[in-house]
Amino acid sequence: MITNENTQKVVLITGASSGIGEATARLLAREGLRVVLGARRTDRLEAIASEIREKGGVAEYHALDVTSLEEMQAFVEFAKDKFGRLDVMVNNAGIMPLSKLDVLKIDEWNSMIDVNIRGVLHGIAAALPTFKQQHSGQFVNLSSIGGHNVYPTAAVYCATKFAVWAISEGLRQESTNIRVTVISPGVTQSELPNTITDAEAAQWVEEFRGAIIPAEAIARAIAFAIEQPADVDVNEIIVRPTGQSS
Ligand code: NDP
Repeated sequence: MITNENTQKVVLITGASSGIGEATARLLAREGLRVVLGARRTDRLEAIASEIREKGGVAEYHALDVTSLEEMQAFVEFAKDKFGRLDVMVNNAGIMPLSKLDVLKIDEWNSMIDVNIRGVLHGIAAALPTFKQQHSGQFVNLSSIGGHNVYPTAAVYCATKFAVWAISEGLRQESTNIRVTVISPGVTQSELPNTITDAEAAQWVEEFRGAIIPAEAIARAIAFAIEQPADVDVNEIIVRPTGQSS
């Protein structure tokens, strides 16, 4: 349960139009935090934000493509205009168009680098100056079990998630009063496999995604990291389905 000192926090969530980002927005808003949703599909964001408000929560949304630093900066400015501060940046947006390297889907490699790595860096670049000014703030960055293990068809995706882990760890070491949390989910219900265009990879993922947990299981881990007192930084949480072996 989120404590009183946390209830007014302003939490920005990238990739909040589906899956883990959406579940996180809904859960944190239920707990009394103020959420700002970003993604490209604004029709989805509008529907989610209005459902949150109907249930008494506080939610705003803004169009966001995380591959653009300018859009990320506008997203942060929007939140500051609305609420006067920001407390947590959840760098969640990600894509997973898997394929073996020899298929040479180079455009998809570049898209994963742009969204999964540059997107996280843009989130850090946009929020860090404000966090420094406030002497407080928290980044919650979504890595993956693919940030710990490498799987066939997932070399580039895993590389991006190893990078998220490394960037987060470096940021943590450089920070004194800013918290940095890595969340590494196992197989979780979401739209993530929809970005796969390669038939062999799609088949492999279907077999791999046997045991699966709801997106809200990851949202609960994010809430746990946020609700700790300011002097406690939960550095990483790995959450897998009980039946997932690797
Ligand atoms: P979804 O596909 O359901 O959600 C991905 C979100 O990212 C969507 O809201 C999408 O919104 C957004 N997004 C994609 N590209 C961009 C972009 N260029 N700019 C802004 N937003 C973007 O998948 P998940 O919820 O599963 O993914 C969330 C995170 O969790 C990802 O980082 C993923 O790698 C990670 N993860 C997921 C696992 C799983 O099994 N589901 C396992 C391990 C990690 P829109 O298209 O509207 O822009």
